[in-house]
Amino acid sequence: MKIARYTVGGQVGYGVVEELGPDGEPTDQTYLAALASHPFGELATTGIRHPYADVRLLAPVLPSKIIAIGKNYADHAAEMGGEVPAQPIVFLKPSTAVVGPRDRIARPRQSSRVEHEAELAVVIGALATDVPAERAGSVILGATVANDVTARDLQRSDGQWGRAKGFDTFCPVGPWVETGLDLADPATDLEVTCTVNGEVRQSGRTSDLTFGVAWLVEYLSSVMTLLPGDLILTGTPAGVGPLVAGDTVSCAVEGVGRLTNGVVDRG
Ligand code: MG
Repeated sequence: MKIARYTVGGQVGYGVVEELGPDGEPTDQTYLAALASHPFGELATTGIRHPYADVRLLAPVLPSKIIAIGKNYADHAAEMGGEVPAQPIVFLKPSTAVVGPRDRIARPRQSSRVEHEAELAVVIGALATDVPAERAGSVILGATVANDVTARDLQRSDGQWGRAKGFDTFCPVGPWVETGLDLADPATDLEVTCTVNGEVRQSGRTSDLTFGVAWLVEYLSSVMTLLPGDLILTGTPAGVGPLVAGDTVSCAVEGVGRLTNGVVDRG
């Protein structure tokens, strides 16, 4: 099931995306079956259907926090000039960085090198403190796609990553949450790709994650309580590269969906 958050007629709601095309993209037949409430409890539809063309998709969740993992693919760690660390690199992106599908990424004036990072994002579905890996699946709502946009020059010069990863618009998320994948199962192997203006920049597979989803849920929930809607960005494969004004960047996760955003310069 694909659950989107959307706005139509001045109202904001959640709905189940139905009748996608065979390629997983919306068509003229696609509609949203409105949910009565948020997606973290019992799901009930209202009977109201909105044609996909009538709605604007929003970021599918409003996270209290975004926990991101650095250098979780060996090929990306290598292109950054290092190896995957023995313990994961954990950093936070602010909730104010989140934007939705089709929203624009704004390059800040403080940086001259803004880069894309396509990532599988885990959406937390229930309050989670000290959850062992074996029970990780019970606190996961589903999967979405994120772009961990990064000011690479500031990441290097600052030492800490808060500024480089934290600008407004630096966390596009969407287009929806796919609930039908067992992310906690290491056998779940999904392709992660990024194209810029139609040219493939990144292509990896989640089977190459050094620290897998279930392990990360245990590790992170032993540090901080995870809340419904929180996101875990699992890291990016090799091929990160620059974004400039006018670009269209599209991140995709197999079986989940495609997240597309334009790029502008922040005034
Ligand atoms: Mg990243």
